[in-house]
Amino acid sequence: MVKIIQLDDALSNKIAAGEVVERPASVVKELVENSIDAGSTIIEIETEEAGLAKIRIIDNGDGIEEEDVLTAFLRHATSKIKDETDLFRIRTLGFRGEALPSIASVSRIDLKTSTGDIGTRVRVEGGKVESVEKAPGRKGTDLTMTDLFFNTPARLKYMKTIHTELGNITDVVNRLALAHPEVSFRLIHNDRKLLHTNGNGDVRQVLAAIYGMNVVKKMVPIEASSLDFRISGYAALPEITRASRNYISTMINGRFIKNYPLAKAIQDGYHTLLPIGRYPVVLLNIEMDPLLVDVNVHPSKMEVRLSKEQELNELVSGAIRNTFKSQELIPTGFTEP
Ligand code: ADP
Ligand code: MG
Repeated sequence: MVKIIQLDDALSNKIAAGEVVERPASVVKELVENSIDAGSTIIEIETEEAGLAKIRIIDNGDGIEEEDVLTAFLRHATSKIKDETDLFRIRTLGFRGEALPSIASVSRIDLKTSTGDIGTRVRVEGGKVESVEKAPGRKGTDLTMTDLFFNTPARLKYMKTIHTELGNITDVVNRLALAHPEVSFRLIHNDRKLLHTNGNGDVRQVLAAIYGMNVVKKMVPIEASSLDFRISGYAALPEITRASRNYISTMINGRFIKNYPLAKAIQDGYHTLLPIGRYPVVLLNIEMDPLLVDVNVHPSKMEVRLSKEQELNELVSGAIRNTFKSQELIPTGFTEP
């Protein structure tokens, strides 16, 4: 007879890591989301070898209490939800309590964190806690991850070139910065600065840092609301187009999401103004009751299920259409950020 056994924590975390930590960019995403959830206003991201050798995130957020630090590395341990009601009213980026244990099971982690008093330093390697000691009391968290996938050779082999992995990291940080203009982001790869946003809350500054001033100058504000949704953002004039949909950024309640019908609704708003095979540059923020959006679809939390999707898509198409109608394709009253 074959015996059924329950796998130990280290092994089940490693299995979960397969889903949560697909590549270096997923580590960056999860860690930076934690920094945002902790109320940070400045987040610095340093990477080496496209994050495979090293990812370091320094934030000035709330930090973790000494007594909670080891719990944070346990599976399904979170400070963000408590019960089922909370699960349907998610306001934070994280809630699954899976990132830290998953990342820690496939890398080496050196975490220093403080809530303002004396801090704590924990080192975890391949899911095993190596040491816990006191650390300086600078409020915030400073996490260094090294040797990603050192103990999962198959996954390491699957990694693409440094160029591709770095591109993925840049994409992730750009999106987080677009969704959070109130936070200052700095992304540095091998001592080279790839992105710097000033955190003054003006998303045009973030757009300029990512797409360049020439594009931002050609972007006009969009705004609309219905009973259930409030949308705002910027849409580039149809003369600015790109060869892929990647320049359409959609956020729901501060979370970057991928949703094909929504991207399609944006394109529809342009009607016939876009040449075939060309896509617009658009940033769209949607504010809605968290009850109407299910983010618990996939571990990466990038896919969502929306109630009243049709109503939202019509609002979005209409807002863009009206903008270009009223602008007569000429931006007026546009001030440089
Ligand atoms: P989740 O974000 O889903 O709660 P994580 O595994 O990412 O799960 O993190 C576990 C917990 O550790 C979080 O709920 C939070 O309390 C704490 N934490 C992680 N990173 C930070 C950070 N940078 N600053 C403050 N607290 C953090
Ligand atoms: Mg998290």
